Amino acid sequence: MPTVDYQLATTVLQDLVRIPSVNPDLVTGADGEAKIASYIADTLDGWGLEVQVREITEGRPNVIATLKGTGGGQTLLFNGHMDTVGVEGMAEPYSGEVRDGRLYGRGAIDMKGSLAATMAATKGLIDSGITLRGSVIFTYVADEEYASIGTSAIADDIRQGRLRRPDGAVNTEATGLRVGVGHKGFTWLEVVTEGKAAHGSRPDLGVDAIAQMGKLLVEVDRLQGQLAAGAQHPLLGAGSVHASLVNGGREMSSYPGRCTLKLERRTVPPETADSVAEELEKIISRLSTEDPGFHASSRVMFVRNPWQADPRSQIVKTTAAAIEAVTGTPSTTMTQTGWLDSALLGDVGIPTVICGPSGEGLHAEVESIDVTSLGTCAEIYEEIIRRFCA
Ligand SMILES: [Zn+2]
Repeated sequence: MPTVDYQLATTVLQDLVRIPSVNPDLVTGADGEAKIASYIADTLDGWGLEVQVREITEGRPNVIATLKGTGGGQTLLFNGHMDTVGVEGMAEPYSGEVRDGRLYGRGAIDMKGSLAATMAATKGLIDSGITLRGSVIFTYVADEEYASIGTSAIADDIRQGRLRRPDGAVNTEATGLRVGVGHKGFTWLEVVTEGKAAHGSRPDLGVDAIAQMGKLLVEVDRLQGQLAAGAQHPLLGAGSVHASLVNGGREMSSYPGRCTLKLERRTVPPETADSVAEELEKIISRLSTEDPGFHASSRVMFVRNPWQADPRSQIVKTTAAAIEAVTGTPSTTMTQTGWLDSALLGDVGIPTVICGPSGEGLHAEVESIDVTSLGTCAEIYEEIIRRFCA
């Protein structure tokens, strides 16, 4: 059984919370991941792991730490992000103080707690003197809260053979000690309607591109209704669509020649960027058939796929069994609406699961983690490693 030092888990988390690592692409001039990466790298190096710090762009590193097995076992990857969102409005963003069983500060649950749990699990394993045949690779990554350059780099490392392809992966985002088995994806799309710019007094010449976009917006609203009432994915429910940004017109006295709309389409399997692009194209072509004066074009701007765990995969089964062994109660599954880095690991074909501690206030003004769940989570990680890499 696991041998986690709960006090060590708490102390490491306090250290991590006290090192600001706000994502500089979210808040200009923010610290980024360099300092927290040094702390993690130095600590794990001191415990005897093989540690590399790989800079993705200037000041934005990933830490890759390997607990080497003796050979012949399965390789397991743990993945968690070091960056946080901003701290505006927070009374104690970097206190790391513990009150009534909760540890406070930005990143406590999203997701420095999970990082501390992996580190305490590692120390527990080392101190227990256990011999593992398989290796454990811990990736502490940059930039999950913005563009995921960190996990994208890890996925590329695996694709191109710079990092050994793991047999299973645990994304350590918070799940309340449940087995995370899926989340939605999203596709960002742009539509441009073309009108004809003209003097406001010349309806005979002008074509109002904003009014044309209005026709499309009516259809977007109708599509949302159809999605909500339509087929539901058994785990993730229905996809959805909404308008995000609209831009058109130059001044009061002119017909707008052009209007641009940016849309977000949240997706569930089997929806893909191609299928939602086609869905939008169909709407545009129907509107053009109804009105030959309607001219619009669309393009896909950015894609993040939905993700679903394979319930028969060994990593899912091992995680469920480890939760049961450590907590003494049956494990339960959960899904998330928001997108996570797990999809990038799933996209490279690695059987992946999400599992992390309990807490509240992600991205909010008061963020905290349940300290008991931190220790329990570390024990679950240790148990997953013992079973998967034995
Ligand atoms: Zn997170």
